[in-house]
Amino acid sequence: MPVQYAKGVGPGRAELLARLGIHITRDLLYFFPRVYEDFSAPKSIDQLVEGEAASVVGEVEEIDLVNTGVGKSMLGVLIRQRSQYLRALWFNQPYLRGKFENGQRVVFSGQAKQNGLRWEMVHPKIDWLAPDQAEPRGQIVPVYPLTEGISQAIMRRITRMAIEHYAPLVDDVFPAVYLAEHQLLPICQAIGAIHYPENQAAITAAQRRFIYQELLVLQLALALRKAALLAGRQAPKLEATARIDARIKRLFPFELTADQLHAMAEIAADMNRDAPMNRLLQGDVGSGKTVVAIYAMLLAVAHGHQAVLMTPTEVLAQQHARTLNERLHESRVRIGLMTGSLPNKQRDILRAQIAAGEIDLVIGTQALLYGETQFARLGLVVIDEQHKFGVAQRAMLKQTSFDPHYLVMTATPIPRTVSMTLFGDLDISTLRDVPPGRQPVHTYFSTDAQRDKWWEFYRKRLLEGRQGYVVAPLVDESEELELASVQQLFESLSHGELADFRLDFLHGRMTSGEKDFVMQSFRSGRTQVLIATPVIEVGVDIANATLMTIEGGERFGLAQLHQLRGRVSRGTYPGYVCVFGNPTTEAAQQRLEAFTKTADGFELAELDFGLRGPGDLFGTRQHGLPPLRVANLQRDRELLEEARRDAQALIGPDPTLSQPAFARLRRMAVVRYGAALELSDVG
Ligand code: ADP
Ligand code: MG
Repeated sequence: MPVQYAKGVGPGRAELLARLGIHITRDLLYFFPRVYEDFSAPKSIDQLVEGEAASVVGEVEEIDLVNTGVGKSMLGVLIRQRSQYLRALWFNQPYLRGKFENGQRVVFSGQAKQNGLRWEMVHPKIDWLAPDQAEPRGQIVPVYPLTEGISQAIMRRITRMAIEHYAPLVDDVFPAVYLAEHQLLPICQAIGAIHYPENQAAITAAQRRFIYQELLVLQLALALRKAALLAGRQAPKLEATARIDARIKRLFPFELTADQLHAMAEIAADMNRDAPMNRLLQGDVGSGKTVVAIYAMLLAVAHGHQAVLMTPTEVLAQQHARTLNERLHESRVRIGLMTGSLPNKQRDILRAQIAAGEIDLVIGTQALLYGETQFARLGLVVIDEQHKFGVAQRAMLKQTSFDPHYLVMTATPIPRTVSMTLFGDLDISTLRDVPPGRQPVHTYFSTDAQRDKWWEFYRKRLLEGRQGYVVAPLVDESEELELASVQQLFESLSHGELADFRLDFLHGRMTSGEKDFVMQSFRSGRTQVLIATPVIEVGVDIANATLMTIEGGERFGLAQLHQLRGRVSRGTYPGYVCVFGNPTTEAAQQRLEAFTKTADGFELAELDFGLRGPGDLFGTRQHGLPPLRVANLQRDRELLEEARRDAQALIGPDPTLSQPAFARLRRMAVVRYGAALELSDVG
């Protein structure tokens, strides 16, 4: 029913309410208070908080009425509570004077303000108490967001009437049994309590109900999606027999870390099922994810299936190809590298070979592999360094008879609350410990005044044989500007601070052939210092490069900075990073401080999540999920866990949530998240 027809509204107010997003009567019920004014228990004066509403009981000590002009007056009434005082003020209401007398007990309810040392209330609500009357219990009053033309009092009247008349008509999405089992307030009661609570506990109980419901609907949507993705999917069952396992692990010239072994076991267990694996492998830069991926790929190949490794950049594809060729040069595994720099003709040949099953391992950039390449027997897809993907964006590769297993790798650790939501349909393996023998990275955040000192240090290390990066500021606007800033840095450094060294540069405008040439030259040590746009962010692995200058540090996100730092934490030498920047916002300042404080990617991820706050909601918008309305993932972690468990318990035995009792919940999940999560059928 349009809100205009709700009691006490009418067309005029309906128009005003529309500005607050209230269009139908139902919206009124779900238009929750911003905060509450709590008059339920009188406060002692020393508990008052500036600007907060409260009730205070005291004895009248002093009454004075002064004329402040023609027809203007100010009435002051001072009350005493033990040894403390509060003054109430009324303007232009001289008639109130006669209602007070000294020694009388009164309650003032209103907003407390401090004036010098004394507390004041302007125009408080007054209750007169009989001498032996107990302190009254006032109410907790809702405070709503308002718009011009609607006062707090009107808003309260409207919501009160709406609740009285319409709340009892709302159907609960939960069956009564479910409410009881999960200790949730029935909807009508929850609506009443969130607007006009009896006490603080009622607010908490009502909030819990709404937050739980929102989180459960989200978790149900994720679980439905996961179930739908898996329904009818057949992946090849690829067992890691003891023999295969040993044969693969022999290829690695080092002892695997406990976390690597654990991740491999989790992956092997997944791939040994005929439902497709859908797993995220997260680990800090340098934690050795590639090794785990190689294990999974060779497991597929051991069973005569193909595996593909997709990278976001060509430089990274080439690096992976090199690593794999080194590891596998004595085996019969056939490797193909599919990149943009491959001439068309060769690309066609490679595609034909892949389609004919003559290539076992394919490495390439995502752009080239999505869509066009047909695989003969694809068993596994590995997606590397993926940190900007959302739930809906994990596209499927073209394949023939069965579905491949999926392994996604990211060096941006994901806070648990986020992984439970954004990546709710993924299983997660984590590499927490780093391979032994890693040297620490020292990180500095520096002002321009210390530049000379830093460059002096940088030169000294170069002379000792190390190599370094200089990262140009991040430029969003255009590649042209980006190129200009790299070239400018190159010019000034090669004529200035680094005049005696061999410099080169790398930017996004170069062809992949050019990029490869530059990287080769840096890898071989011919180039001592590489000046680059943040493209080097992803996965480049050059052990001798231990120095990094980052310019314009305030423009980078925390995760990005940490990724960059990962480039110099690879070898047997300690790494040194110096960030220059002029943080102009509090947030940028805090980011840079956090960055220098810890080198632990997991800790940084939590910090970053905290800094960005719930408002950013793990960038839901960027990931295509509608924002949460009442839940806050950080604050409501426990409810989130609970909702997740409950959603799984519901979907496990009933993958489409077809029980009639849950039809409403199901519809809610589909309506709210259907588009974002591609839950196609509306039930
Ligand atoms: P990332 O997780 O950043 O992708 P990589 O897989 O590229 O990390 O590994 C970083 C470096 O560490 C590589 O040179 C790799 O060979 C080496 N490495 C990986 N695992 C181990 C290990 N268990 N012991 C020693 N070195 C390792
Ligand atoms: Mg990597």
